Amino acid sequence: MNEDELRADIVKYGALLYGRGLAHGSAGNLSVRLDDGTILVTPTNSSLGFLTAEQISKVSIDGTHIAGDPPSKEAFFHLAVYEERPAAKAIVHLHSTHAVAVSCLCHADSFDVLPPLTAYQIMRIGRLPLVPYYRPGDRKLAEAVRGLAGEHKAMLLANHGPIVSGSSLQKAVHAYEELEETAKLFFLVGDRPLSRLTCEAIADLNATFPG
Ligand SMILES: [Zn+2]
Repeated sequence: MNEDELRADIVKYGALLYGRGLAHGSAGNLSVRLDDGTILVTPTNSSLGFLTAEQISKVSIDGTHIAGDPPSKEAFFHLAVYEERPAAKAIVHLHSTHAVAVSCLCHADSFDVLPPLTAYQIMRIGRLPLVPYYRPGDRKLAEAVRGLAGEHKAMLLANHGPIVSGSSLQKAVHAYEELEETAKLFFLVGDRPLSRLTCEAIADLNATFPG
């Protein structure tokens, strides 16, 4: 896809996520990596439901603003993910209700905060680690994300929300939606006895559907 097509994609998926109630107000941001290594990211204080292709920010991998409106204040952790995951071409970060609710719980195992419920959860999200809380704009958050990004396509920022990467914006959006639906299931099953996927089933999925 060329830059114009990717800008149109960001507008399309922003409206879709907003329309589905996964993004609200001016919360959340989307980004894609262009073939020249520069990044398109949604602008600061923009609503994902009402983007225009022209306003979308373009930044270098070191965060220098190149074109469009000023980038999201959260762009710096997108850049950390791109640096650590060479195959990542797109990132979705939203504050969707059920995933944020999981991020506000105390977790015994911060390396994996959702039980293995379904095959598509394993295939699209994998293990979901919790990134410690930092206030918005704190650059320590980018460093904490960087430390986990190499091993994980999805992470959950504590008391904040998920970051999900993919080899295309469509794939990152699908994975994000899978995560939100898994978080919904997690609350729906509640304290009932849980039939978790076995270690053998997870290993089989990871071997059959790598990446
Ligand atoms: Zn955020």
